[in-house]
Amino acid sequence: MSIKDKILIVEDEHNIASFIGAILNANGYDVLHAHNGTQALSMITSHCPALVILDLGLPDMDGLDILRQVRLWSHLPIVVVSARTHEKEKVTALDLGADDYITKPFGTDELLARIRTALRHTRTQNANPSVATSGKFRAQGLEIDYDKHHVLVDGEKIHLTQNEYRLVTLLARYAGKVLTYDYLLRELWGPAARGDNQILRVNMANIRRKIEKNPAEPEYIFTEVGVGYRMIDAD
Ligand code: CA
Repeated sequence: MSIKDKILIVEDEHNIASFIGAILNANGYDVLHAHNGTQALSMITSHCPALVILDLGLPDMDGLDILRQVRLWSHLPIVVVSARTHEKEKVTALDLGADDYITKPFGTDELLARIRTALRHTRTQNANPSVATSGKFRAQGLEIDYDKHHVLVDGEKIHLTQNEYRLVTLLARYAGKVLTYDYLLRELWGPAARGDNQILRVNMANIRRKIEKNPAEPEYIFTEVGVGYRMIDAD
């Protein structure tokens, strides 16, 4: 029998905490609960959970402060759960080192997918495991051949510019995870490009025109409005 991953749920609302707890138990995770920030910080240190699900609106402190404190000493995966739909807060959470976020109300499948992605990325130290062995990324009809620098859709070779290729491969490297506009700009165009979302939008529009059947309803690269982009999970 494999050892279960221990997940700490930091949530002050009892109904939500037990709802998440029940889903995780049913899906083979061990569950711990913290009902406020102080308790959360002490449990993270004493119980060493594999992942933390963190509510941002806590009675004694802002969840973002917990994130800030934990990131001073740990890369422990943290998925932020927030009722607030404010985009700026999601960006702040990601910039402070949250691995992902999920907005209430959310579905069971979405929650489990976010958790699997966050756990996988820590285990493989951020490299996509299938890429390491095959030199290829595959997600449904999309294939990236890293050795040949080719991107194929349904077996057809797609011509991408250098920047478009770099953008697609960066998103694929963190498939399943949202990457913020600022992060992508910094990685691809350097610190000076910060805030210049137009360059990103133009490149993404071109990529979508080339790889998506219907660019308005993408199947491979999704927009997280006001936050960034997310590549579909690898097969
Ligand atoms: Ca709350």
